[in-house]
Amino acid sequence: MGYDVVVVGAGFAGSSLAYFLSMAGVKALVIDVRGWDDVGDRPCGDAIGKHHFDELGMPYPKGEELEGLVRGIAVYSPSEEFRVIVGGEGFEVNSVKYVQRLLSEAISRGCEFLGGTHVRGPIVKDGYVVGVRVWSGGVKELNAKVVVDASGNARSVVRFLPKSWPITEELDFVDANVAYREVRVLEGEVEEPEILRIYVNNDVAPGGYWWFFPYSLMRGYVNVGLGVRADLKGVHPREQLYKYVLSRPEFRGSKVVKAGGALVPTRKPLTSLVWNGIAVIGDAAYVVNPVHGGGKGSSMISAKCVSEAIVNALSIGDTSATNLWGANVCYMRRYGCKQGALDLLRYFLQKLSNDDLEFVISKGLVSGDELNEIARRGRFEVGVIDKILKLASLLTRPSLLLKLRTLVKYMDLIKEHYMNYPSRPEDLSVWVNELNNMIKSYHNMLK
Ligand SMILES: Cc1cc2nc3c(=O)[nH]c(=O)nc-3n(C[C@H](O)[C@H](O)[C@H](O)COP(=O)(O)OP(=O)(O)OC[C@H]3O[C@@H](n4cnc5c(N)ncnc54)[C@H](O)[C@@H]3O)c2cc1C
Repeated sequence: MGYDVVVVGAGFAGSSLAYFLSMAGVKALVIDVRGWDDVGDRPCGDAIGKHHFDELGMPYPKGEELEGLVRGIAVYSPSEEFRVIVGGEGFEVNSVKYVQRLLSEAISRGCEFLGGTHVRGPIVKDGYVVGVRVWSGGVKELNAKVVVDASGNARSVVRFLPKSWPITEELDFVDANVAYREVRVLEGEVEEPEILRIYVNNDVAPGGYWWFFPYSLMRGYVNVGLGVRADLKGVHPREQLYKYVLSRPEFRGSKVVKAGGALVPTRKPLTSLVWNGIAVIGDAAYVVNPVHGGGKGSSMISAKCVSEAIVNALSIGDTSATNLWGANVCYMRRYGCKQGALDLLRYFLQKLSNDDLEFVISKGLVSGDELNEIARRGRFEVGVIDKILKLASLLTRPSLLLKLRTLVKYMDLIKEHYMNYPSRPEDLSVWVNELNNMIKSYHNMLK
């Protein structure tokens, strides 16, 4: 049996892709090992910026899909005495309900959903992915013109492909967080329920942060979690959360509704999101924001870019890497360039001590609006750089000043490099070499 498109995984990425493809008249088969009732159910903070929905023309979550409205994020210093508020509207989303809605709409336009089915790996013929092997009580082969790996950290298709394909690049744990969260109902009222809270503290969450995200539309419900750098031996996010956070008085008497953790790839994007007959989106393509770890908005962006490339390749009747390449150019310009730049900022932040973090937040080196701009654009605007450098020099932190200058310079260089992502696969290796050299020289400067 042959399909135009088989999508492996019905999380935020896979269901967004099915939605976009169906809007363009392409009927996909979406396969997930989960059944209909729990598609989209994975450990998450559930926060998504409203701008993602606006920019992609995606429907806002509503009814049961919407668990909270967000007006901003407060970032607290290690002492918790100081905070900056990053304004911006967003939602706390019930992923299961929202994913079901996207899939239902796609199904009403001809998409098929196959739940409870495990994808065992790709079928490769003459240098192309031509289908997948699946298991549901027996092995079956399903052929497709394009297979899309949207299986999250499992990377259930791409990890079996030839290592010479750039789409197979593996995740190094140095570039990942491992995060654990619980959804709890508190006994008391939650103050400022539309403000999400992020706490940076290297003793509590080394290489990451802990968060307290209220669901403003569900009285007393909060999502509380903690992420740490995944390569740190002997540091477990659940243990850290229980030791430092859930032991606080505000959690006394609270009830656990949900608990679980997962790996978060906090790095630059995968070198290429496509190859012959194959595309990759969402966590499987490392599209998570390296600094705040949000991956749902960028999963939708990667799905949008890949959907347009697939529609193009199917219309030409050839699903080679060359014809799917537009997905890379689209994604790298739209979000990958920012990820590349923010990956340097992530590295910079992970090296700061609690003392440095306290200094940056307490002295107001960056305001909430400026932080918002840096996060949105992946760069420091000139006025902001001047202000930060002036303050840092006035406050006599010469080593921090030098590192900041280096960071700002290299973030701009890397972003520019991603904006010049090659327009054809033949030029990829030269571009990758240049990128790696820039990153290496940034790391050397910061040593
Ligand atoms: C604790 C935590 C908190 C987070 N908080 C936020 C947040 O607040 N905001 C935000 O934007 N992001 C957050 N993230 C990141 C975000 O959750 C992910 O980036 C996003 O959900 C990834 O979606 P996905 O569709 O790529 O992958 P997934 O949601 O993992 O979906 C993959 C799907 O593939 C299926 N699958 C896997 N293997 C197979 C197989 N072999 N056969 C068939 N099906 C298969 C799975 O069942 C699953 O349904 C958080 C992550 C964690 C761990």
